Amino acid sequence: MSKITCLEDAFIHELSDIHSAEKQLTRALPKLARAASNADLADAFMAHTDETQGQVERLDQIVESMGLKLRRVKCLAMEGLIEEGHDTVEAIEKGPVRDAMLIVGSQKVEHYEIAAYGSLITIAQSLGYDEAVKLLKETLAEEKTTDEKLNKLALKKVNAEAMEHSREMA
Ligand code: FE
Ligand code: FE
Ligand code: FE
Repeated sequence: MSKITCLEDAFIHELSDIHSAEKQLTRALPKLARAASNADLADAFMAHTDETQGQVERLDQIVESMGLKLRRVKCLAMEGLIEEGHDTVEAIEKGPVRDAMLIVGSQKVEHYEIAAYGSLITIAQSLGYDEAVKLLKETLAEEKTTDEKLNKLALKKVNAEAMEHSREMA
Protein backbone atom coordinates (compact mmCIF):
# COMPACT_ATOMS: atom_id res chain seq x y z
CA MET A 1 0.00 0.00 0.00
CA SER A 2 1.43 3.36 -0.96
CA LYS A 3 1.86 6.05 1.69
CA ILE A 4 -1.13 7.70 3.31
CA THR A 5 -0.04 10.74 5.32
CA CYS A 6 -3.11 12.96 5.21
CA LEU A 7 -6.89 12.74 4.86
CA GLU A 8 -6.61 13.71 1.15
CA ASP A 9 -4.45 10.59 0.62
CA ALA A 10 -7.00 8.51 2.50
CA PHE A 11 -9.72 9.82 0.18
CA ILE A 12 -7.74 8.91 -2.94
CA HIS A 13 -6.85 5.49 -1.53
CA GLU A 14 -10.47 4.66 -0.73
CA LEU A 15 -11.65 6.05 -4.07
CA SER A 16 -9.12 3.77 -5.80
CA ASP A 17 -10.21 0.77 -3.73
CA ILE A 18 -13.92 1.16 -4.51
CA HIS A 19 -13.08 1.81 -8.18
CA SER A 20 -11.27 -1.53 -8.23
CA ALA A 21 -14.21 -3.20 -6.47
CA GLU A 22 -16.75 -1.80 -8.97
CA LYS A 23 -14.61 -2.84 -11.96
CA GLN A 24 -14.40 -6.38 -10.61
CA LEU A 25 -18.19 -6.37 -10.17
CA THR A 26 -18.89 -5.32 -13.76
CA ARG A 27 -17.31 -8.66 -14.74
CA ALA A 28 -18.75 -10.79 -11.92
CA LEU A 29 -22.41 -9.70 -11.98
CA PRO A 30 -23.22 -11.06 -15.48
CA LYS A 31 -21.79 -14.42 -14.34
CA LEU A 32 -24.11 -14.38 -11.32
CA ALA A 33 -27.02 -13.62 -13.65
CA ARG A 34 -26.18 -16.69 -15.76
CA ALA A 35 -25.77 -18.82 -12.63
CA ALA A 36 -29.21 -17.88 -11.26
CA SER A 37 -32.34 -19.81 -12.17
CA ASN A 38 -35.01 -17.45 -10.83
CA ALA A 39 -35.74 -14.97 -13.65
CA ASP A 40 -36.33 -12.04 -11.29
CA LEU A 41 -32.99 -12.68 -9.59
CA ALA A 42 -31.19 -12.92 -12.95
CA ASP A 43 -32.90 -9.64 -13.99
CA ALA A 44 -31.82 -7.99 -10.73
CA PHE A 45 -28.19 -9.00 -11.37
CA MET A 46 -28.33 -7.66 -14.94
CA ALA A 47 -29.98 -4.40 -13.87
CA HIS A 48 -27.26 -3.95 -11.24
CA THR A 49 -24.59 -4.68 -13.86
CA ASP A 50 -25.78 -1.62 -15.80
CA GLU A 51 -25.96 0.43 -12.62
CA THR A 52 -22.44 -0.67 -11.68
CA GLN A 53 -21.09 0.55 -15.02
CA GLY A 54 -22.69 3.91 -14.24
CA GLN A 55 -21.06 3.86 -10.81
CA VAL A 56 -17.62 3.37 -12.39
CA GLU A 57 -18.38 6.36 -14.63
CA ARG A 58 -19.34 8.45 -11.59
CA LEU A 59 -16.01 7.58 -9.93
CA ASP A 60 -14.17 8.50 -13.16
CA GLN A 61 -16.09 11.78 -13.19
CA ILE A 62 -14.90 12.57 -9.65
CA VAL A 63 -11.30 11.74 -10.60
CA GLU A 64 -11.43 13.92 -13.74
CA SER A 65 -13.26 16.91 -12.29
CA MET A 66 -10.93 17.04 -9.26
CA GLY A 67 -7.79 16.42 -11.34
CA LEU A 68 -6.89 13.37 -9.23
CA LYS A 69 -4.92 10.29 -10.13
CA LEU A 70 -6.14 6.90 -8.93
CA ARG A 71 -3.62 4.70 -7.14
CA ARG A 72 -2.80 1.12 -8.04
CA VAL A 73 -5.07 -0.54 -5.54
CA LYS A 74 -6.79 -3.88 -5.87
CA CYS A 75 -9.76 -4.37 -3.60
CA LEU A 76 -8.83 -7.71 -2.05
CA ALA A 77 -12.05 -7.84 -0.05
CA MET A 78 -14.11 -7.75 -3.25
CA GLU A 79 -11.82 -10.32 -4.85
CA GLY A 80 -12.55 -12.60 -1.86
CA LEU A 81 -16.31 -12.02 -1.94
CA ILE A 82 -16.40 -12.77 -5.67
CA GLU A 83 -14.32 -15.91 -5.07
CA GLU A 84 -16.91 -17.05 -2.53
CA GLY A 85 -19.58 -16.54 -5.21
CA HIS A 86 -17.64 -18.83 -7.54
CA ASP A 87 -17.45 -21.42 -4.74
CA THR A 88 -21.24 -21.23 -4.37
CA VAL A 89 -21.73 -21.87 -8.08
CA GLU A 90 -19.30 -24.80 -8.02
CA ALA A 91 -20.72 -26.37 -4.88
CA ILE A 92 -24.47 -26.06 -5.51
CA GLU A 93 -26.34 -27.24 -8.60
CA LYS A 94 -28.39 -24.68 -10.52
CA GLY A 95 -31.71 -24.15 -8.73
CA PRO A 96 -33.44 -22.35 -5.87
CA VAL A 97 -30.96 -23.36 -3.13
CA ARG A 98 -28.09 -21.95 -5.20
CA ASP A 99 -30.20 -18.82 -5.80
CA ALA A 100 -30.69 -18.38 -2.05
CA MET A 101 -26.91 -18.58 -1.56
CA LEU A 102 -26.26 -16.20 -4.49
CA ILE A 103 -28.46 -13.69 -2.67
CA VAL A 104 -26.45 -14.18 0.54
CA GLY A 105 -23.19 -13.58 -1.33
CA SER A 106 -24.44 -10.58 -3.26
CA GLN A 107 -25.89 -8.97 -0.13
CA LYS A 108 -22.43 -9.26 1.45
CA VAL A 109 -21.11 -7.44 -1.62
CA GLU A 110 -23.72 -4.67 -1.31
CA HIS A 111 -22.99 -4.26 2.39
CA TYR A 112 -19.26 -3.90 1.67
CA GLU A 113 -20.11 -1.20 -0.87
CA ILE A 114 -22.52 0.55 1.52
CA ALA A 115 -19.75 0.66 4.17
CA ALA A 116 -17.13 1.83 1.64
CA TYR A 117 -19.28 4.61 0.16
CA GLY A 118 -20.57 5.65 3.59
CA SER A 119 -17.13 6.30 5.02
CA LEU A 120 -15.86 7.78 1.74
CA ILE A 121 -18.76 10.27 1.81
CA THR A 122 -17.90 11.23 5.40
CA ILE A 123 -14.26 11.86 4.44
CA ALA A 124 -15.36 13.89 1.40
CA GLN A 125 -17.72 15.94 3.59
CA SER A 126 -14.90 16.66 6.05
CA LEU A 127 -12.65 17.77 3.19
CA GLY A 128 -15.37 19.94 1.64
CA TYR A 129 -15.49 17.95 -1.60
CA ASP A 130 -19.12 18.87 -2.28
CA GLU A 131 -19.41 17.59 -5.87
CA ALA A 132 -17.87 14.24 -4.89
CA VAL A 133 -20.29 13.97 -1.95
CA LYS A 134 -23.25 14.49 -4.30
CA LEU A 135 -22.09 11.83 -6.78
CA LEU A 136 -21.09 9.29 -4.12
CA LYS A 137 -24.48 9.68 -2.43
CA GLU A 138 -26.23 8.80 -5.72
CA THR A 139 -24.27 5.54 -5.85
CA LEU A 140 -24.84 4.79 -2.16
CA ALA A 141 -28.60 5.07 -2.73
CA GLU A 142 -28.37 2.54 -5.60
CA GLU A 143 -26.46 0.07 -3.41
CA LYS A 144 -29.04 0.37 -0.63
CA THR A 145 -31.93 -0.11 -3.07
CA THR A 146 -30.24 -3.20 -4.51
CA ASP A 147 -29.74 -4.65 -1.02
CA GLU A 148 -33.44 -4.12 -0.23
CA LYS A 149 -34.48 -5.63 -3.56
CA LEU A 150 -32.42 -8.76 -2.76
CA ASN A 151 -34.00 -8.96 0.70
CA LYS A 152 -37.48 -8.90 -0.83
CA LEU A 153 -36.56 -11.48 -3.49
CA ALA A 154 -35.30 -13.85 -0.79
CA LEU A 155 -38.28 -13.35 1.48
CA LYS A 156 -41.05 -13.34 -1.13
CA LYS A 157 -39.76 -15.92 -3.60
CA VAL A 158 -36.39 -17.57 -3.54
CA ASN A 159 -36.28 -18.91 0.04
CA ALA A 160 -39.76 -20.42 -0.34
CA GLU A 161 -38.67 -22.05 -3.60
CA ALA A 162 -35.57 -23.41 -1.85
CA MET A 163 -37.67 -24.92 0.97
CA GLU A 164 -40.07 -26.42 -1.59
CA HIS A 165 -37.12 -27.85 -3.50
CA SER A 166 -35.65 -29.58 -0.42
CA ARG A 167 -39.08 -31.09 0.41
CA GLU A 168 -39.27 -32.52 -3.12
CA MET A 169 -35.78 -33.98 -2.73
CA ALA A 170 -36.62 -35.64 0.62
FE1 FE B 1 -21.48 -0.72 -6.81
FE1 FE C 1 -11.48 -2.87 -0.50
FE1 FE D 1 -23.65 -2.80 -5.75
